[in-house]
Amino acid sequence: METVTNLIEKAYIYHTLTVDEVIKILMADKEETDYLYKQADLMRKEKMGDEIYLRGIVEFSNYCVKDCNYCGIRRSNKQVTRYRLTLEDILTVCKKMETVKQTTVVLQSGEDSYYTKEKMGDIISAIRSETSLAITVSSGERDIETYAYWKAKGMDRYLLRFETSSPDLFAVCHPDDDLDYRLRCLANLKMLGVQTGSGFLIGLPKETLAQLSADILFATSLELDMIGVGPFIAHESTPFKGAPLAYNRELYFRVIAILRLLNPKAHIPATTAFDALLPEGRDLLLARGANVFMPNMTPQPFRQYYQLYPGKPCLDEDGDDCAFCILGRINRLGRKVGNDAGHSKRI
Ligand code: SF4
Repeated sequence: METVTNLIEKAYIYHTLTVDEVIKILMADKEETDYLYKQADLMRKEKMGDEIYLRGIVEFSNYCVKDCNYCGIRRSNKQVTRYRLTLEDILTVCKKMETVKQTTVVLQSGEDSYYTKEKMGDIISAIRSETSLAITVSSGERDIETYAYWKAKGMDRYLLRFETSSPDLFAVCHPDDDLDYRLRCLANLKMLGVQTGSGFLIGLPKETLAQLSADILFATSLELDMIGVGPFIAHESTPFKGAPLAYNRELYFRVIAILRLLNPKAHIPATTAFDALLPEGRDLLLARGANVFMPNMTPQPFRQYYQLYPGKPCLDEDGDDCAFCILGRINRLGRKVGNDAGHSKRI
């Protein structure tokens, strides 16, 4: 029988594993886990280099027409103060980002129909003409004409998580969504030549280790330019309130390391929610396979109103605080900031 160390070596060389093999690595002991992290970090260094790309997130609207059962800004949560940023607000933040080594803006929102194809197109083209930033959008499911229009206006990338590859679990979590449609959106984005990012939540209620392993392999099969995953942490104002953390904290980090071994050339962000798991969560991820950091650049006082999960860090800080904090973190890790746009390595 193959040992876990053998399986890690297999993943390092061939970038392929079976569901059972992923489960074994997810259950690795301390020594095996250390080896996994070492190999993931080595793979990151070999294929992605030492640069950490800074992609500032601007949460420009927390209105959402959807009611995802895990999400703190779902439409049924009447306790949330809703807001929308103006084009001027967004441009001000983008210009600040250029001065603190951030080369991409990530425009993130709920599914907000106020931002029509044209309105969002105007925001994208204004950023394109007034800054040098690469533009990532993450605003949910839209039709192919809309994605094509936004690309023509200057959008470089799109993030749309599939959240879980299980149709049953997807249906439990998303009362108004359909997994097939979401996957069609991802296929459309790829067909249009938009750099495409996706990923999943780790530890949704009723998720099994076999399902989590299937999600890791499914994300790999999509040949994504970016893979973003995060822990499910129950929000008190959602139907999933009170659900416990599904796994021990270490397992969440193993997921990222495995994804790196299976996807050597994908950009993998150290997502913010890992700081809600452990205070230094994002720093640990950057040493275990991740190569992208996404500072929160949403201006005050709006940050507190965009909480998809509880315990989100940096709610009291402003953009300057987050920008300088990450530069210090990168310095301490002995890495350097990526000066270029950090486009896909798969192109
Ligand atoms: S997860 Fe996204 S689509 Fe679902 S309710 Fe939250 S913001 Fe809306």
